[in-house]
Order: sequence, then C-alpha cells, then structure tokens
Amino acid sequence: MALQPKHRVKPQVERIMLTVLGCIAQQHDPLLVALSALICALGCYITVTLMAQTETARDPRALLPAAAVFGSSVWALHFVAMLAYLPGTQIAYALNLTAASIGVAVVGSLLALLVWRRWSRGPIAFALAGTLLGLAITGMHYLGVAAMRASALVFLDPAYTGVSVLLSVAFATLALARAGSGLPELTRRIEVALWLALAICGLHFTGMAAVTLAPSGLPEAGGYLLGSTALAWAVGLVSLAILAAGLATLLVQQHLSLRAVHELARMRLLGDLAHEVLLIHRSGTVLEVNGAGARLFGAPIENLIGSHVLGLFAERDAPGLIRRMRCRSEDLQPEEFRARTETGALVPVELSCRTIEFGGKPAVAVALRDLTDRKRDEARIRHLALHDALTDLPNRHLLEQRLAQAIDTAAQDGHGTAVVYLDLDRFKPVNDLHGHAVGDALLVEVAKRMRVELRPTDTLARIGGDEFVVVLAVTSVPEQAGEIVSRLVAALRRPFRIEGRHLEVSASAGVALYPADGGSVEALLRAADTALYRVKDEGRGAVRFFEPAMDAQLQARRLLEHELGLAVERDELRLFYQPVVNGSSGEVETFEALIRWQHPKRGLVLPAEFIPLAEQTGLINRIGAWVIDAACAAAAGWPEPWRVAVNVSPSQFRLSDVPVVVAAALSRYGLDSGRLVIEITESVFIQDADAAVAVLTRLHNLGVRLALDDFGTGYSSLSYLQLFRFDKIKVDRSFVRKLGRNTDTLTIVRAIVNLAHNLDLQVTVEGVETGDQLAILRGLGCDQMQGYLFGRPEADLKISDAERLGIRALFAAPPIRAVA
Ligand code: C2E
Ligand code: MG
Ligand code: MG
Repeated sequence: MALQPKHRVKPQVERIMLTVLGCIAQQHDPLLVALSALICALGCYITVTLMAQTETARDPRALLPAAAVFGSSVWALHFVAMLAYLPGTQIAYALNLTAASIGVAVVGSLLALLVWRRWSRGPIAFALAGTLLGLAITGMHYLGVAAMRASALVFLDPAYTGVSVLLSVAFATLALARAGSGLPELTRRIEVALWLALAICGLHFTGMAAVTLAPSGLPEAGGYLLGSTALAWAVGLVSLAILAAGLATLLVQQHLSLRAVHELARMRLLGDLAHEVLLIHRSGTVLEVNGAGARLFGAPIENLIGSHVLGLFAERDAPGLIRRMRCRSEDLQPEEFRARTETGALVPVELSCRTIEFGGKPAVAVALRDLTDRKRDEARIRHLALHDALTDLPNRHLLEQRLAQAIDTAAQDGHGTAVVYLDLDRFKPVNDLHGHAVGDALLVEVAKRMRVELRPTDTLARIGGDEFVVVLAVTSVPEQAGEIVSRLVAALRRPFRIEGRHLEVSASAGVALYPADGGSVEALLRAADTALYRVKDEGRGAVRFFEPAMDAQLQARRLLEHELGLAVERDELRLFYQPVVNGSSGEVETFEALIRWQHPKRGLVLPAEFIPLAEQTGLINRIGAWVIDAACAAAAGWPEPWRVAVNVSPSQFRLSDVPVVVAAALSRYGLDSGRLVIEITESVFIQDADAAVAVLTRLHNLGVRLALDDFGTGYSSLSYLQLFRFDKIKVDRSFVRKLGRNTDTLTIVRAIVNLAHNLDLQVTVEGVETGDQLAILRGLGCDQMQGYLFGRPEADLKISDAERLGIRALFAAPPIRAVA
C-alpha cells in the first residue's frame, strides 16, 4: 500500500473530526449526549476505582465488578446516545441484539482486564489488553448499531469505522498503560478514567459519524422494539442513579476498608510493641504474627504467615497442642511448650489462647511468653540455693542430698562411702592479717586444689567459713578413703600464692565410713565432725578416722561446755593464789591469780581442762572479766605493796576490750593500777601485732604492769620484745625443770636473763621446785621466782609470817655461781 503524502493526511483527519463534531452537534439531542457523557465519565471512574482495589487481589474474579461496571457503562452510554440520535427518521432497537451487546462489552472488558492484570509489565501486554478492551467497546457499539431498526437503510463509512476502532483501541491501550504502573493517586485515577471515557466516546461518536441512514420508506419488521426520547431519559437517569449509588457505596466501602487497614496497622503496631509473641491462626494455619514472633522463631513474618502452627513447636509438643486445639480456648490455663526456631533450637514458652473473630470468621489468637529468662533465673536461684556463692561448691543442703544418694547407692551395691570433714588450721590468722578479700581468694584456691585431687563422682562441699566436707562415693575400703584424704591434706600444705602474698595453711580432717560409723546422713556427718574435733584437740594438721570412743568423749565435752556456760552464774569459779617472791631476798612481792572450777561432781577442775574450751566457745570473755574483777577485789584487801598477777588469754585479749574491763575493776575496788600485773603470752601478737600493741599501750597507760608469760615456749620470742616494752618476762617452767640436767638450758636461761636485763626488763622464773634450782637461778640473777618451793596455788591468801620467814631462809645461803 502506497504511503500518502503528509500534506494529504492532515486535511483528511480534519475532515473526519469536523464530520464527527458535526454528527454530535447536529444529529444528537445535546442534553441526552451530556447525560450519556456523564454516565460514561462516572462509569469509567468507578471502573478505575474498582481496578485500583483489585491491585493486591490474586483471584481473577476480583476483576469482574470492574468489567461489569465498565461494560455496563459502555452499553449505557451507547444506548442513551443512540436514543439521543436524531437522524431525522424513526429509529427503534431490537431488544435481543441490544441485550447481547451488553454481554459483549462485559465479557470483552473482563478479558482485557485479565490480560492487563496478569501481564501488565510491558508495552506488548498493554497493547494486547488495550486492543481487547477497544474491541470490546467496538464490538458492543457495532452490535448496538446492528440492533437499529429504522425506516431507512443503514450504511457504514469504512474510513470512519476504521478510525473509530483505532481510536477506541488507542485510548484503551493508553488508559491501561497508564493504569499499569499503579493507581494510588486520585489524579492518576481521573486521568485513566478520562482515557477510558475517550476510548468509549471516541468510538461511539466517530462510529455514529460513520453511519448514514438512507430512508427506504419501509418500516423494519420483527422482534421487540425499543425507542423514544422518553425512554432514553429513563434509561439514562436510572443508569446514572445506579452508577451514582455504586460510586457512593464504593466510596463508603473504600473509607471502611481504609479504616480497617488503619486498624490492622494499629493492631500490628501494638502487636509489634508487645513483648509477647502474638499469632492468629485458623485451623492451625497462621494468619497473622507480630514482630516478637518473627524474632522468637527467627523467621520473617511473611514466611510464618501461611505456615502450620504445629511446625512452630517441638515435635514432642504436638499431641499437647492438638489436645488444646480441640478444647475451648477459654477453658484452658496457660501451659508450657517448646517453640522451635528456624534453626531448630527449642525455646521454652508459656502458651495461652483465646477464640477471636478475625476477618469476619472465628480464629484463635495465641500469646506466647518466652520463658528463657525466667527459666534461667529459676535455674540460677536453684543453683544459688544449693551452692556456696564464693566457691560455687555444693552447700550443706546439696551435700546432704548427695550424701543421702551415696548412702542409697552404697546400700544397694554393698559398697562403702566415706565422709570427710575438713577444716583449715590457720585460716583465721590469714583473714585477720591480710583481710577478707585475701581470705576469700585463698578459700577459692583451696577449693580448686581439693577438686583436682578428687574424682568426678566425689562431692566436695563448703559448709562454713573454712569448713569443707567431701563425700567419697563408692569407697570400698578405708585405705582408699585414707589415701585420698591424705592427698587432700598434703595438697593444702603446699604454700599458696594469693595476690602476691605467700600464704601457708594446713588442714585437719576427720573421716567417717558408711556403714561402720553411721547409717544416716546425720550420723555420718556427726561422726566425721567428731573425728575432726579430735584432730583439732590433738594438735591439727592430721587425719583421724572416727572411733566410737570419740563420740563418748565428745558428748562429755559438750556437757562440760554446757556446764561451763553456767559456772559463772552458779558461782563455781574460784581464784587460787600463788606467791611470786623476790629473786634475791625471797620476800613475797606478788600473788598470781590462777583459776579453778569447783565442779559439783568432778571436784576441782584445773584451767588446762576448761580454759581451751572457754576460748573455743567464746565463754572466755565472761570468765576472764570475772577473773579480773575477782582478782582486783581480792588484791584491794591485801597489805601493800603486794601485787596481783592476772592471766589474760589471747582470745580474750582479742575479742573483748580488756583495758575497759581492767579500768572498771580498778576503779570499782579502788585498787592502785600499779598493783595489777597482766600476764599475756606472745600468741596475742600472731594474728594482729599492731592491734595487740595498741591494747597493751592502753593498759600501760592505765599504769598496769605487763608481763610476757611462758617466755621461751613460743615462736620467735625475741622479736616480740621489740614490739612492746613489757615490764617483765616470765621464763617458762619447762626451762627450770631441765636446769641442772641440761647445760644448754642453763646457757639459754642465762642468755634470756641477760637479754632481758639489757632491755631493762625484769625476769621471773616459773616452776622452781627444788633448792638446787633456786641456787642456780639465784646465781643467774633472776629478779623474781615462782614455784612450789615457795608456795602452791592456794584458795585463800593465808601466808603466815612463819611461812614468809621460811621462804626468806631459803635465800640466806650465798648464791651458787653456776658455770655453763
Ligand atoms: P601460768 O600462767 O604459767 O601459770 C603457772 C602455772 O604453773 C600454774 O598452773 C601453776 O599452778 C603452775 N606451777 C607453778 N609453780 C609450779 C611448780 O613449781 N611446778 C609445777 N609443775 N607447776 C607449777 P595452773 O594453775 O594449772 O595454770 C595453768 C595455766 O592456766 C596458767 O599458766 C595460765 O596460762 C592458765 N591460767 C590459769 N589461770 C588462768 C586465768 O585466770 N585466766 C587465764 N586466761 N588463764 C589462766
Ligand atoms: Mg601466768
Ligand atoms: Mg607461765
């Protein structure tokens, strides 16, 4: 086909346009044309709005309303416009074809919209959809024209007909292409509606310009015929009313669905803010889930929606979940399940649910509370309840459980079990000297060292400050237990290095065996404790197995302890006095107060039997205070210048405020402080030398004389003499006993005496029993002497003149100059 020159195409188009406009202006009732245009515009707008609503719908049926409205609009426009057609001849319409034309419009539009929705990604798809839509409009129109029954012959101009089809297809393609990229804004919707309207109107009026009616004078026959302007108005107005009502409904619906979308968004936001997992399911299929759910399950929300609820939980929980689903959710209490994450990890959750309405149908809302933290806290609390916070070893409670288990197992298997009570020997000094932080660190190290020596089946527990208990499970023979315990004790004897400090401790252990020493937890622990008690009594750092006799001894000791507690109130304590005489004249200068316990059944009990017990139980403070008080009361009645010497035990010295007690006693009885001598032993310095010196200084400031008792028996006697200026030292009687038998002793005593004199200290020797000892000691130049030779400790101070003379007579002979 030859191309027409450009200058010829333009007048051709102009001609067609003029003809069409002329057709509209001259051959149509203008009011009805306006009505049809209004129907067309409204119909197109509703169509576009419906198309916009189907954007997210997957179901192709969702496009049916849009196609129906569009098809009907095309038909309504056509029909009203046709009725507005005034060709100057009588026109009627065949009902069947008119009705069929609406079907063509609707079905064709549906096909076009389906193509548009399914393949709206490129120009070809748009062109295809547009062509279909254009053909649907065209098909409707020409079928409508074919329905015309006029008393004239109908001719169609092929050029106008072709242009009308082209216009319709072009505008429809343009409309769908513009709609293809989405219809979110109103302006875009109006634009698309406009293109659609043009596709319809363009076709219709160009198509009508193509029609020429040649009067034939013959009325058309057959079929049911429609006609008249009144009918046009009726159809037009009813169509308009229906479309307007449709638009109103659409707008209300849009508003409601927008509100529903907002509500859903708000619910989602609330759901996402919620700490708990919220999910909604219907018959097990997840419909909604919040952000917490995505976090818990470790999967995006999109993946969770549509999945089955059972797949989100541990397989083993499935029966429980199914059982729950069968029940009315209102009747169910929250229950624990295990959620399964994307990685397969199981998370403990508490599940509660309720039936709700979702999307107009019943569904189940499920709330899941992550119990991980709670479980962890519970486990931590359980652990803390059963373990020692410092060393993380089992505490007494767990120990008892483990021991009970060990006993059960041993009873069943016929094996043995050993319980070891272990106590550090020099822990308190470490604590006092280096502070609690070091003490704690030492305990942790001790625990570690012991753990190394034990087998995994053994239980090591810490039940007190420095007290540990070991349960040696399945120990068949005592030897095996003995060997392990010896290893433990040996391990603790090795020095520790804590925070740069070199620390040495040792441990004592008491062992009890099952079944020999007890059949219950309590009996075994008591037996091991008793054995340990014995070790401590005998000098520490050793291991002792329980023996039945120990029990009796321990009982006796406990009884004694109890009775001693009552001794002060019952007035059973007595002070005996032993003279201390001048080393050169034999003149009595001091009386040492020595405590006795007048026991109602045992008779007179010596201090060696109850002072250590009083120290261990803390009773020493009350007893010591009583001694100071009673000694001052007695001395206040003595002739001057006799002094009274009082022994103060190291623990009394540490634990009670001795200077306050002393000052109170002195003032109560008006005793001159210079007449009171306080005797302490060097062990007061061991734990905290500075504190000891401070107390001694306060006593010194009171005017009290201070003596270092039992000198020569301790650790490093000389260094203590530099710490504090004592008034005198008392050389222990063990030296005196060996005098005359051992020349080394004489050398030592002489050295002590010389040293003390050089330091300007007086020297008292204790335990002088014989004249020979006296003679030697006089030769050494001792300042004071004490011993049975001069007088035993007596209840009453009844030293007669004769006795005093007798003592002095002992000093009448010249002293022997002993040669070492
Ligand atoms: P100590 O302070 O060294 O007292 C001297 C001890 O030696 C006394 O024993 C005394 O009876 C004994 N003794 C004195 N001369 C001789 C002698 O020639 N030969 C022998 N074999 N022994 C002699 P006692 O009274 O049994 O006291 C023992 C220890 O008990 C005292 O040793 C003292 O450390 C302590 N003690 C006594 N009374 C008290 C007291 O009231 N409070 C405190 N905390 N301890 C006391
Ligand atoms: Mg003494
Ligand atoms: Mg002594």
